[in-house]
Amino acid sequence: MDLFKKYPVSISNTLSGKKEKFEPLNPPFVGMYSCGPTVYSEVHLGNLRTFTAFDVVFRYLTHIGYKVRYVRNITDAGHLTNDAGEGVDRIEERARLEQLEPMEIVQKYTIGFHEVCRIFNILPPTIEPTATGHIVEQIEMVKKIIENGYAYEVNGSVYFDVNKFSEKHKYGELSGRNIEELMDGSRALNRQDEKRNPIDFAIWKGVPPNHIQRWPSPWGEGIPGWHLECSAMGTKYLGKQFDIHGGGMDLKFPHHECEIAQSVGAYGIAPVRYWMHSNMLTVNGEKMSKSKGNSFLPHELFTGSHPLLTKAYAPMAVRFFMLQSHYSSTLDFSNDALNAAEKGYRKLMNALDALKELNHPKTTAINESLKNDLDRLVDECYLSMSDDFNTAKTLAVLFEMSARINDFKSGNQDLGAIDSNTFTHFKNTYINFIQEVLGLREDNAQDEQLLNGLIQMLIDIRKKARTDKNFALSDEIRDDLKAMGVQLKDGKDGTIDYEIE
Ligand code: AMP
Ligand code: ZN
Repeated sequence: MDLFKKYPVSISNTLSGKKEKFEPLNPPFVGMYSCGPTVYSEVHLGNLRTFTAFDVVFRYLTHIGYKVRYVRNITDAGHLTNDAGEGVDRIEERARLEQLEPMEIVQKYTIGFHEVCRIFNILPPTIEPTATGHIVEQIEMVKKIIENGYAYEVNGSVYFDVNKFSEKHKYGELSGRNIEELMDGSRALNRQDEKRNPIDFAIWKGVPPNHIQRWPSPWGEGIPGWHLECSAMGTKYLGKQFDIHGGGMDLKFPHHECEIAQSVGAYGIAPVRYWMHSNMLTVNGEKMSKSKGNSFLPHELFTGSHPLLTKAYAPMAVRFFMLQSHYSSTLDFSNDALNAAEKGYRKLMNALDALKELNHPKTTAINESLKNDLDRLVDECYLSMSDDFNTAKTLAVLFEMSARINDFKSGNQDLGAIDSNTFTHFKNTYINFIQEVLGLREDNAQDEQLLNGLIQMLIDIRKKARTDKNFALSDEIRDDLKAMGVQLKDGKDGTIDYEIE
């Protein structure tokens, strides 16, 4: 029997605000979309929390027997510096700053993103479409929306007409906003005269002649609107209506609200049945974001080089830290929490090692209550994940299981007191939940910490050598490290970072 029938999934649907039974349109197939990164800079730990949350959803649905088509896009054009659809294209801006082609920026940060996903054991989606690879589909969708009377063209840009749309349809349902309030709120903002209304948003944006990224369209050369990209790629691979759409809470408005309006405007149908939003990773209660200067980059974490970090942390300890809270709660970063996560992670992995070594002996007298206890724990793993992907509850169950494993290992509990089927089921569940569902793997954390500690020690010795004007020693340390593939990055006050090739 398919596990999804035995353990039906429920999802907190942010559209209805309720926890609902998950009923895919065409079981066992599931169509799922989540907004991918805008590849104009390195992803930070906050971004990774969201990608990890949907990685776990993908992993669990697959584990219980669904055939999931998981689309996570790469935004490589059209995302402006201001989410209200104003400002300049982030990739274009970065290309000018770094004096590179926009596609070189895209390539650089896409490779970086994939590398970080690999380090954090975030699986690749089944389709990873790029916005620039789907300009044709986007233009077709814009045409449809114009045809249906919900968009208008001005000076080579096309805007979605929110007022017109809301005469027939609801706008603001997902984010719980009403159109009058939105109109009042936006009037005070920088008024863009091109639009009929300040809350209208660009679905195609004409660009000036010096803009590097540009594509021909019926309205002249331009770039697609960021909201429209996700609508067009979601529709292309998952259909006009599909099962799950995810993203961080901060994308609910305007991004996802606009996605709904565009699909209804083009095809007359709500695109998504279950909207899921992951909550923010915070630092001292504030959302982690690049613009606030409180974000950590993955390599700052592994090297401990960020001023807010007291030491280096291994990727799997960080993944464990993220899984310890439910995706819909905020998660506050602290060194204490990461230290605790490191210990928790080690405890689970030690039990995993011990379990792999355990072999079931001949069954002696069966202990019914022990058998029931192990079966209950297996059940609870599934029940807690099926309950809106509650990784926090699941980890608590896995800790209970690890205590049983330790009892078997130490001989406090006789393994022969259960039948081999019960043991195999228990063993497989523990292994599968840790490795497949939660995506935790052996990290060699101790080796990495030792390595980082030794490099840091050499950096300190080099600093002292420089203070003592012993430049020969300072250069020798730098050159020897370089020969071993460790590149020191010097700032004006000494070494600020390093990279291991
Ligand atoms: P972006 O590359 O800015 O489009 O963001 C990629 C994803 O990261 C989006 O789904 C955002 O909602 C999410 N995100 C951004 N900041 C945070 C944060 N502090 N905590 C959790 N998710 C975040
Ligand atoms: Zn999106």
